[in-house]
Amino acid sequence: MRIALFGDIHANLEALNTVLEDGEQQGVTDWVCTGDVVGYNANPSECLEIVRGMDIPIVKGNHDEDASGSHSLENMNPIAAEALDWTRQHLSDEQREWLRKLRMVRQVQDFTVVHSTLDQPQSWNYVTNKFDAMSNFNYQFTNLCFHGHTHVPRVFVRGARVKEVAAESVVIEENLKYFINIGSVGQPRDGDWRACYAIYDLETKTVSFRRLEYDIGTSQQKIIDAKLPESLASRLLEGR
Ligand code: ZN
Repeated sequence: MRIALFGDIHANLEALNTVLEDGEQQGVTDWVCTGDVVGYNANPSECLEIVRGMDIPIVKGNHDEDASGSHSLENMNPIAAEALDWTRQHLSDEQREWLRKLRMVRQVQDFTVVHSTLDQPQSWNYVTNKFDAMSNFNYQFTNLCFHGHTHVPRVFVRGARVKEVAAESVVIEENLKYFINIGSVGQPRDGDWRACYAIYDLETKTVSFRRLEYDIGTSQQKIIDAKLPESLASRLLEGR
């Protein structure tokens, strides 16, 4: 069994299709989504329909929540708010309802999935260092948990203490706990513009990251054509 973990798609159809094709070539048998299907990019409806049609385990992201609600976006970063307002208008009531009903945490096989953290999933906290990861580990009852939200692939490990190791191929050891950020399909922020996802191979107990070039020019042009904030197009190429 080879399970693909993917998320923070953020309505980037070109990146999503590239990841799905790569997964097929990599012999992926199952898919699990860490949320944020919509927001920022120009194809929320298309991406939502693809992911919904896959009928896979998925958790809710903060953009999924904001796009499916009708609450004010005033306190949010203005660019994200503008994109979310646009996204709300480009989803049907029924699509928004599907997003609204997504669960916050799921257990799949021998691992847990959450968009942000397990200690307070509804607070959407960002895990950027081992200290942030520590509070999550106190609420993590499987030895492996996958998450997203920061759009930066990271691997935190708890043994005698918590440490961060390189986001490369990781062999999961049974006596340790792992909190793994699987990066972002549609808007990576680690300085590398290529779409990111991870594959967990249950036989070899290995988690590996995939980085893929995709048709970023088309994604950028769609942002411009949709009259979404132009900075959303430039940040894609910067990987920020
Ligand atoms: Zn996100």
